[in-house]
Amino acid sequence: MTTEFIGGCLCGAVTYKATAAPQLGGHCHCVDCRKSSGTGHCSHLAMNADDVEITGKAIQFDKPADSGNMVSRFFCGTCGGAVYSTNSGMPGFVFLRASSLDNPEVFSPSMIVYTRAAPSWDVMDTSLPSFETMPPEMPI
Ligand SMILES: [Zn+2]
Ligand SMILES: [Zn+2]
Repeated sequence: MTTEFIGGCLCGAVTYKATAAPQLGGHCHCVDCRKSSGTGHCSHLAMNADDVEITGKAIQFDKPADSGNMVSRFFCGTCGGAVYSTNSGMPGFVFLRASSLDNPEVFSPSMIVYTRAAPSWDVMDTSLPSFETMPPEMPI
């Protein structure tokens, strides 16, 4: 079941393969996620970094989150496809973009964060736990 978590950018220059399932998955409506997404949120799979093998050279863009932690977003320099990110508050993790999965159905979101910044037209699953910003126990 673990080889389901494969994906990459549009052109295939940057790809990944995970050898284990995510620790967590969710949607984030923060402004930076929205602006880098093409819609009102990003959907992330939090993976143990040791479980993810990334192939190809992605371009890195660093911008601090509200928490002050540095978020590094990685995307393909050829096709622009967003592939993954990292957060200095959770150094052992890689956050894969659900949009970059080859089979997006393997993503199973368990929470929604930064609902206070969500556009009214980006309607989400109201059965999921949701938080106005980040849940207090998450150090990112
Ligand atoms: Zn590409
Ligand atoms: Zn965000």
